[in-house]
Amino acid sequence: MHYTGTIWRPPYEAFSLLLEVTAGCTHHKCKFCTLYHDLPFRFRMSPMEDVESDLLEAQLWSTDPIAMLSARLQGRPRPDHVRRVFLVGANPFVLKFQRLKTIADRIHQYLPAVESIGCFARITDVALKSDRELEALHLLGYDRITIGVETGDDAALAFMNKGYPAQTIIDQAERLDAAKIAYHFFYLAGISGAGRGVEGARKSAEVFNRTHPQTIGSSMLTVFPESELYQEIQRGNWREESEIEKLEELKTLIEHLTIETKIVTDGASNLVQVRGNLPADKEKLTGHLKHLIETADEADLREYRVHLRHL
Ligand code: SF4
Repeated sequence: MHYTGTIWRPPYEAFSLLLEVTAGCTHHKCKFCTLYHDLPFRFRMSPMEDVESDLLEAQLWSTDPIAMLSARLQGRPRPDHVRRVFLVGANPFVLKFQRLKTIADRIHQYLPAVESIGCFARITDVALKSDRELEALHLLGYDRITIGVETGDDAALAFMNKGYPAQTIIDQAERLDAAKIAYHFFYLAGISGAGRGVEGARKSAEVFNRTHPQTIGSSMLTVFPESELYQEIQRGNWREESEIEKLEELKTLIEHLTIETKIVTDGASNLVQVRGNLPADKEKLTGHLKHLIETADEADLREYRVHLRHL
């Protein structure tokens, strides 16, 4: 398989075939982000020959002797068919409709059991497609895409150079709903900065309550020295939220969400593992966070953050 640099995928895509169709990010400007800094370019579209050769490799895996043996040792007669493909890269959904269609056609040609195709997307990538193109992408299998919206706090979106205001999240999520393309959101606790965490969470909940994400995966901001945000902190232009404030922010977000969704904090950046369905588990989750906020020691939590070398 062709893989370039560090490959990022959401935890719930662990059983998907990871297919590289892009590498890097077209935006590459968010001040806190260092995810694709290991690449010698900002963004690259994979040659179709590489994509096809990876699909052929995945197709042959079902008859590979090692895969057959491994399946039998696990009590299965043969390796499982690939049911879902996750397209690799920060935002493959930016690709033009025709390219996404060609990729989907090739996936279904080589792996006919595939039922759906996911990928990361920027919310602005959705805006580049017409309503008819979004509907056609849904019919081609594009579904449950993951969008790192990060926050609904306009001040934080602008400062961090996310490249869109909160209203874009609402508008484009509505278009995805209309096209029946389900989506997950990533939220970033800490993005609003010291003293603004609770306000950022309230504003985010207001925005998210007008959308329908299947899951809101929350991470916590970790500032790495290679990031532009680190330079902003050195210049005195921005201050980090304490770890306790990040927990308060997460609690506030959960308290103010009124939609049906799942909330999960799976990534390494999180100080605490929270997982539940909203609104059913709201009290349990906020009660757990309240207890942590009242009993946790900031210095201990900070110790975890400063020793986190990689997300
Ligand atoms: S859009 Fe995502 S991958 Fe690209 S710079 Fe921003 S946070 Fe990083």
